[in-house]
Amino acid sequence: AKRAKSTGHAETYQDHAFVRLREQFGMETALRHAIEQRQLRLTFQPICDLRTRTVSSFEALARWTTPDGVEHAPADFIPVAEESGLIVPLGRWAIAEAARTLAMWDARLGGDCGVRVAVNLSAIQLQRDVIAPVVAAALRDNGLAGDRFTLELTESAIVGDPAGIADTIHALKALGTTLAMDDFGTGYSNLAYLQKLPIDILKIDRSFITGMLGDGDKVAIVRAILSLAQALGMRTTAEGIETLELGQTLAALGCTYGQGYAYARPLEADAALQLLLNAKA
Ligand code: C2E
Ligand code: MG
Ligand code: MG
Ligand code: MG
Repeated sequence: AKRAKSTGHAETYQDHAFVRLREQFGMETALRHAIEQRQLRLTFQPICDLRTRTVSSFEALARWTTPDGVEHAPADFIPVAEESGLIVPLGRWAIAEAARTLAMWDARLGGDCGVRVAVNLSAIQLQRDVIAPVVAAALRDNGLAGDRFTLELTESAIVGDPAGIADTIHALKALGTTLAMDDFGTGYSNLAYLQKLPIDILKIDRSFITGMLGDGDKVAIVRAILSLAQALGMRTTAEGIETLELGQTLAALGCTYGQGYAYARPLEADAALQLLLNAKA
């Protein structure tokens, strides 16, 4: 780079911006390759019914390990996928792979394995792809009823009411799927959508759950979300439960489901199947 007489500060900033751009471009190329070469896989984190203490569903979470063993976190590659448009093939792959895996579990258990699978849909993906037909095809191709799928949306998908999003949400609902609002409480959104859209579950963001037991303000926010959900006839999931004590408190407060390291980390598909087989035995 040309070292001009400009201030060191400006230079540092420009170098920084350039490095960021180059890194992102590198990751975009690598991610494109990873999708084509099937370097992505789904892991499955149990979501438990806090009252019955059984697994109710598994959230499908994408993982990317390169052939030389480098693990990229979704927090790094999902934004790159969104900015580059790769979220469309990645998202289609996740929907198909989740359906294929669920059908495989059913086959191994000799019938409906009794759990749902929850797939994340990003706001950009909802804007750029026609999601409902993609979900319908994945269900049909794998012989699954619509009620075996939960779709997790974020408030950013509906902020500003982008055209077509309500239609998409109603079309997904018409397939029989469950709709969950992910990271609830972080979206700075007008809550009017809760009246208009057929949302089944509010997923309380981890930031309110982590450290909740020592923080009266967090408890107040969680209680408010639980009472809002109850009044609207919605179920609730608390994400990021890292201690059993926290899970017990949330159960006592009336939260429907819990997810977090206290119960299980995201599992490889085989380990999730083993858990289902053990539960049946
Ligand atoms: P999310 O949908 O809110 O998923 C929950 C995240 O919390 C996951 O991170 C999960 O591993 C993590 N988690 C679960 N329990 C605990 C806990 O007890 N403590 C802590 N500290 N973390 C916990 P992960 O797998 O890194 O995914 C991050 C985000 O990336 C997801 O947040 C989701 O927004 C996005 N993502 C992952 N896979 C996909 C995908 O296939 N498609 C789309 N569109 N987004 C995805
Ligand atoms: Mg999620
Ligand atoms: Mg979440
Ligand atoms: Mg989250």
